[in-house]
Amino acid sequence: MTEENQTLKISKIRDGIVIDHIPAGRSIRLLSILNVGEHSGHTISLAMRVKSNKKDYKDVVKIENRNIAEEELSLISLIAPDATISFIENYNIKEKRKVKVPETISGILRCPNQNCISNAKEPVETIFHIVSEDPLEARCEYCERIFKGSDLIGKI
Ligand SMILES: [Zn+2]
Repeated sequence: MTEENQTLKISKIRDGIVIDHIPAGRSIRLLSILNVGEHSGHTISLAMRVKSNKKDYKDVVKIENRNIAEEELSLISLIAPDATISFIENYNIKEKRKVKVPETISGILRCPNQNCISNAKEPVETIFHIVSEDPLEARCEYCERIFKGSDLIGKI
């Protein structure tokens, strides 16, 4: 049986998305940045530390009746650079996409530097340049400081 079939066996969903190849243990953080939790109304299946061929262990998340916007793909890539997203319709995979860490991220993250111009009273849209993918490091366009992923994702 292929790895794919193993993963889909966990619980099939009719419509929604499957996020696979999440580094083990990061699925909870992923759900929180996607804003799907106890109040979102979506049914979520979560498998942590599933045996994987690619790496030793991975997390898999299935969210029913949810789609993923283009900006969210780059958001997911920050936490799970190797993630694949399957779009499920009527139990079939309609489309499968691999996330890609973008070179820059605009407007999603906030600069942890309180004195940064992007945090001023009339805020400008933030721009971060990715310096390193995993572990994530990004440089703010405005204050030019380099931040660790944990500082940036915590600020969403
Ligand atoms: Zn800044």
